[in-house]
Amino acid sequence: MRWHIPRSHPRYESLKLREKLVEAFEAGIVVPQGLIAHGRGEAFDYILGEKSHDFALEAERATVAHLIISKKPIISVNGNYAALAAEEIARLSIETGAPIEVNLFYRSEERIAKIEKLLADHGAPKILGTNCEKTLIPGLESPRGIVCKEGIYTADFILVAIEDGDRTQALKRIGKKVAAIDLNPFSRTAQTADITIVDEAQRATRNMENIAKELKGNHDMLKQIILKYDNKAILSKAFKTIMERLEEAAAKGVIIEF
Ligand code: ATP
Repeated sequence: MRWHIPRSHPRYESLKLREKLVEAFEAGIVVPQGLIAHGRGEAFDYILGEKSHDFALEAERATVAHLIISKKPIISVNGNYAALAAEEIARLSIETGAPIEVNLFYRSEERIAKIEKLLADHGAPKILGTNCEKTLIPGLESPRGIVCKEGIYTADFILVAIEDGDRTQALKRIGKKVAAIDLNPFSRTAQTADITIVDEAQRATRNMENIAKELKGNHDMLKQIILKYDNKAILSKAFKTIMERLEEAAAKGVIIEF
């Protein structure tokens, strides 16, 4: 890390993530548009208090249950997700047995190869990307629609993070079950996914790794989690939490003591 960020800084975690993104941008893993997308996420995280709320943990439990129980699950990884959470993604893949596909909105084989290497360096066991037979998701123009045949194209459950709404909607149209990590509950991705994880991507992935460790032997419990899950209720709770935090701020005016 090039800049020393003091641990005592109130935005320590957030500044560390920014630093990771800048480094990944300079390494050709993140595109400039990705830096802008991160800012949109940060704004929601700020309002949400930069922590994993119960509604996020519930969605994370349901996602882990699907990753473990589905016949053909896959974790879709883009530049921002890899930059923020390569280590956590690799461990989630190991704990759940779900492979990874590197899938990019701003696609280049060179960037895919760099992300594959980053994930492999962190111990990810199975990564699809440059090395697979390609096909197209209907409804998305190439190259945005290019996916691996043995990965996303034939998967029954896909975890996406920091994803564009068009692509999430296209995956839903071809019958995929989709979980999405997205801090903005208003986004098309958040609204379209079967499971919406309104949480920061690194935190969410770390939580899911721990949940997988705890629950992976208990298939009855995992099935129960899936049966009980209600995404509309989860989204409502996310909106309510935002509203309550804004109401409190509006009532008090000043919420920070200097
Ligand atoms: P949509 O197309 O789904 O309506 P969008 O146009 O905002 O949404 P993008 O610009 O591709 O889509 O942004 C990706 C999404 O990821 C945004 O909703 C943003 O809030 C969210 N996001 C950004 N950084 C993070 C992060 N670190 N963790 C979780 N979500 C994030």
